[in-house]
Amino acid sequence: MYVVCNDHLTEAIDEFVEVYEQPPDIYELDSVSFSDWIAPSICDKCDKGPKYLVV
Ligand SMILES: [Zn+2]
Repeated sequence: MYVVCNDHLTEAIDEFVEVYEQPPDIYELDSVSFSDWIAPSICDKCDKGPKYLVV
């Protein structure tokens, strides 16, 4: 699972495909909420606010 900003979305998708050998589902963080999961406040790849969840 990756939580990334706009700039790192492509990179996260590439990594996901490499690791899991299948395309990820991509969600906008604004439009999803999980009761037992709190979105990190920064991107996995940089210090910006994350925008997408790649799972
Ligand atoms: Zn980023």
